[in-house]
Amino acid sequence: MKLLEQRILTEGKVLSGDVLKIDSFLNQQIDVKLLDEIGKELTRLFKDENVTKVLTAESSGIAIACFAALHLGCPAVFARKSKSSNISDNLWTAKAHSYTHGNDYTMIVSKDYIGPEDRVLIVDDFLANGSALTALVSLCRQAGAFVVGAGIAVEKAYQGGSKLPEFEGIRIESMAKIASMDPEKGIIFE
Ligand code: 5GP
Repeated sequence: MKLLEQRILTEGKVLSGDVLKIDSFLNQQIDVKLLDEIGKELTRLFKDENVTKVLTAESSGIAIACFAALHLGCPAVFARKSKSSNISDNLWTAKAHSYTHGNDYTMIVSKDYIGPEDRVLIVDDFLANGSALTALVSLCRQAGAFVVGAGIAVEKAYQGGSKLPEFEGIRIESMAKIASMDPEKGIIFE
């Protein structure tokens, strides 16, 4: 999406440790018009898949999930990120490693909201090494739900997350694909 690429180029800040900061329109302040366009584009791509749930992880994926769900006409569900091991048994759980915080955590979602009847579109703000997406796919597989695909706002393609064997057969659509990123040389899209 040219619109998103343009915003990344004008407002994105490349930090050390391969982190792109886009707090001004996605990760803290939210440009709802831009996210509406992302929701529409994801709907255009997945409209024939009979999506019954859009699943994401708190917190930055939630806004994207809401706009996609609005246009697809289904609920948005977000997995919580729990640090405690005191987890009730009506939950699907999956371990993940946080790219930005560097810690391990457990992603949890109630069994009430994802089940075998569901056709799930997973969305997230970033795809880097693939840990968050792996956990979201795992939650769906445990629930017996079918993953129709994954819609990602920003994929740092050079980090290779989308190539993990866990995602074989899963259609991954990224609205902006970064081929390389460097604090001095800037951002190059695929
Ligand atoms: P992965 O699990 O694929 O390694 O990383 C994806 C998750 O880490 C996303 O949910 C996102 O929250 C966070 N993340 C990864 N890379 C970046 C980045 O460059 N900038 C920001 N703001 N978050 C990132």
